Amino acid sequence: MKILVANIGSTSLKWRLFDFANGGERLLHKGGFERVADYPKAIEDCLAQLRDAGALAGESDLAAVGFKTVIAKGVTGCVFLDERVLAAMEAYNGIAPAHNPPYVTGIRLFRERLPRVPLVGLFETAFYQFAPEAMMRYAVPPSWHEIGVRRWGFHGASHKYIAERSAELLGRPDVAERVRRLYVERGRTPVNDPPLRVISCHLGGSSSVSGIRNGIAIGNSLGMSPQSGLPHNNRVGDLDAEAIPYAVRTLGITLEEAQRQLSKEAGLKGLSGVSNDIRDILEAARQGNANAQLALDVFVASARHWIGAYLFEMGGADAIVFTAGIGENQSEIRAAICAGLQGLGIELDAALNEATRRTEAFISSAASRIKLMVIPTNEELVVARETKRLLETTKN
Ligand code: ADP
Repeated sequence: MKILVANIGSTSLKWRLFDFANGGERLLHKGGFERVADYPKAIEDCLAQLRDAGALAGESDLAAVGFKTVIAKGVTGCVFLDERVLAAMEAYNGIAPAHNPPYVTGIRLFRERLPRVPLVGLFETAFYQFAPEAMMRYAVPPSWHEIGVRRWGFHGASHKYIAERSAELLGRPDVAERVRRLYVERGRTPVNDPPLRVISCHLGGSSSVSGIRNGIAIGNSLGMSPQSGLPHNNRVGDLDAEAIPYAVRTLGITLEEAQRQLSKEAGLKGLSGVSNDIRDILEAARQGNANAQLALDVFVASARHWIGAYLFEMGGADAIVFTAGIGENQSEIRAAICAGLQGLGIELDAALNEATRRTEAFISSAASRIKLMVIPTNEELVVARETKRLLETTKN
């Protein structure tokens, strides 16, 4: 069974083609285009590349196209992308303005080009559908809650991958199986005692932390929109609700300009004044740039804030996992996040930490009660797996 996972940006198309033949999971092809002006042509060129590489014989060889969709009104989980679901995505364009409109456009173009191939969306909010209500509510008036002003949580595909893989690596196949079947059985797969508590830190171009108990997320640092939680590369992260009206009045800017500045000129880029890439910021900090150091310090403090919140909420943790561009590659950032926490049973092995880059590893010391791990994430594989599961469960 071949499943294409298409990652749609406003001007980019990236893809991975997976083959699940004979019980395996094989990546057959990956590629992408940046600065896309003509989207139908980009889709055509993607299909041509897959044919030319011998990865796909033709459309009939494709079981489905899966998309890492972000958010929709009243819809989550892994679903077929029919007109009802696309309308539900459009209804929340205002919550994810950078993501939903290009996705809806892109999905419609895929449907025109591949009318007989099922199109499936795995929503980034799906992993949080079983989180306790108290962790997901804002204390807003009911009318605000009704229009969707609540915590949704994002990066669901990534944190789900970490939930499953960490459970495997921690010797808990029962929890891994629950994560695998989460959207089919809605968290009802039984698990054994003791509970497995994992804190997953997705630190990358955008960052979030999730607490995961027995394979089920209890929350995520991203709230109503992908514009919250930790500072991101260009985006502000958490901000007081009064800040925007105050800045609009005081700086004499429009609401739209305030939103643009907070999403394009803020975050690590805004703080450091150097770059939105943590590698450049680390280099500038090494050379004595105080703003660069401040950006790193704010990022680390925010990561610790959220890790601490889930540690407390779950009454401890069995493991803290680092993933994504920064989490997988930056030992200095991991070290700063874990510094001085021996009293909580959190202690890195400095040599293991420094040696670990983009590979699965335990990086805690023998004395560390809480295991520290690096696990490279694989969001596209999660989309492909869930797409396959949806096809199989609807067939039966
Ligand atoms: P996204 O959230 O956009 O998918 P990634 O998870 O790829 O992003 O993370 C991108 C960020 O991770 C970059 O901005 C950079 O700061 C950092 N990063 C990516 N690759 C590396 C690397 N090889 N070494 C160090 N940092 C990296």
